[in-house]
Amino acid sequence: MTLQSFGVIGLAVMGENIALNVERNGFPIAVYNRSRDKTDRFMAERAQGRNAKASFTLEDFVASLERPRKILVMVQAGKPVDAVIGQLKPLLNEGDIIIDGGNSWYEDTERRTQDLEPTGLRYLGMGVSGGEEGALNGPSLMPGGTESSYQYLSPIFNKIAAQVDDGACVTYIGPGGSGHYVKMVHNGIEYGDMQLIAEAYDLLKNVAGLDSKQLHEVFAEWNTTDELNSFLIEITANIFPYIDPDTKKPLVELVMDAAGQKGTGRWTVQTALDLGVPVPTIVAAVNSRIISSYKEERIAASKQLTGPSGKYDGQTKEFINMVRDALYCSKICSYAQGMALLYKASNTYNWNLQLGEMARIWKGGCIIRAGFLNKIKNAYAENASLANLLLAPEFKQTILDRQNAWRSVIMTAAKLGIPVPAFSASLDYFDSYRRERLPQNLTQAQRDYFGAHTYKRIDKEGTFHTEWVPVEESK
Ligand code: NAP
Repeated sequence: MTLQSFGVIGLAVMGENIALNVERNGFPIAVYNRSRDKTDRFMAERAQGRNAKASFTLEDFVASLERPRKILVMVQAGKPVDAVIGQLKPLLNEGDIIIDGGNSWYEDTERRTQDLEPTGLRYLGMGVSGGEEGALNGPSLMPGGTESSYQYLSPIFNKIAAQVDDGACVTYIGPGGSGHYVKMVHNGIEYGDMQLIAEAYDLLKNVAGLDSKQLHEVFAEWNTTDELNSFLIEITANIFPYIDPDTKKPLVELVMDAAGQKGTGRWTVQTALDLGVPVPTIVAAVNSRIISSYKEERIAASKQLTGPSGKYDGQTKEFINMVRDALYCSKICSYAQGMALLYKASNTYNWNLQLGEMARIWKGGCIIRAGFLNKIKNAYAENASLANLLLAPEFKQTILDRQNAWRSVIMTAAKLGIPVPAFSASLDYFDSYRRERLPQNLTQAQRDYFGAHTYKRIDKEGTFHTEWVPVEESK
């Protein structure tokens, strides 16, 4: 029997597309899915004429692969991954490699690695970004685990990944759960980008009064600019002119304004809090999805809680340009937060993440792909130990040049009662980070007052506690 070179378990959206990508790049595939119907459909339709072998038991699937076996698991994250590994483990031999390509929680990946590697099996936790289209034509791949396992698979990864001007969108991320961690932060940044774009849309529609044709034109124009050219701006431009065939109205205006989420944005925020890294723009993005889901309560509240009335009285063209500047400055702050989180995680877990490489492999294939990532890559090339992206000369100058517009947009939004939580969180991040003195001296005094938590002084060394009795009583 001829053996296949690469196995894929799980034939839902991601699995079937990545399997076809692997096969198209010259690696005969073996496939397996828990329910037979997906496998039958795949073989009868999309795998027709391809070098693909289907199995209906894991025993047959494993037997159809050449050794050492290379098996990509693309099933629902969480317990299903453990279930599949549990079934596979007794069937495999020393040196075989399991790759978990789902959105697994990075600590699960650490646990699975510790469980599997001592048995002689090899394990990689690999973030895959790009959705259905990316999986088929070239995703951004974020593989973490033992470096020798990565090197063994890199010829395949390099071929199936998206290709950009400076190489394939894949690199060795680092040990253990680092690949899944980086993918999680990528998703957190994606949440931030999407929320910032939603706020720009809200302002352009409800302050500047643009209709869907004009919204399309503005986003299409922004997509031609060096700073905003990106997949998310491109699809945003494409969404506005889409007309619902039944109502003849722009479809986006008929879509329920309650956003879903699968958890990677929330995980990013949770781990950031655990590591003590501020990510306020990503927090604002997650909170905005949550509050959007309170649709019924918001409808009821809208009948009772009024905001300011009034209209924007400035120039439309000028306002559009200010929103563009506000969006770009906010985006820089959002990426600064995400990269700072990766920097801290890398130091905490000894992952030795190459932040410039992270920006490079996100340039193609993934949802946050953007020309702007080149600037981030270059910033780390100039200074690999950059503490915060805001300090990179290019970004520093951009914000200095555009901050007046950014502030003005946020003031207009507040005056007109339009929520811009991610724009505001980004500006607050910038203003907090750039200030030598913050009001937390008062916080420290309060903590010492009610809890004897002690404080440090700016004028002398040591740790202090004061009996903060009111002045009157202390006389
Ligand atoms: P999915 O909807 O997350 O999962 C469905 C697949 O998991 C099916 O093949 C299903 O098999 C299998 N499965 C579920 N429970 C199982 C179990 N206990 N044992 C064995 N198989 C089980 O699929 P997906 O959207 O293709 O995503 C796969 C992974 O990639 C997920 O971790 C997802 O978060 C991640 N991801 C998805 C996207 C995207 O755009 N969809 C993008 C990046 C990453 P049955 O057919 O038998 O039910």
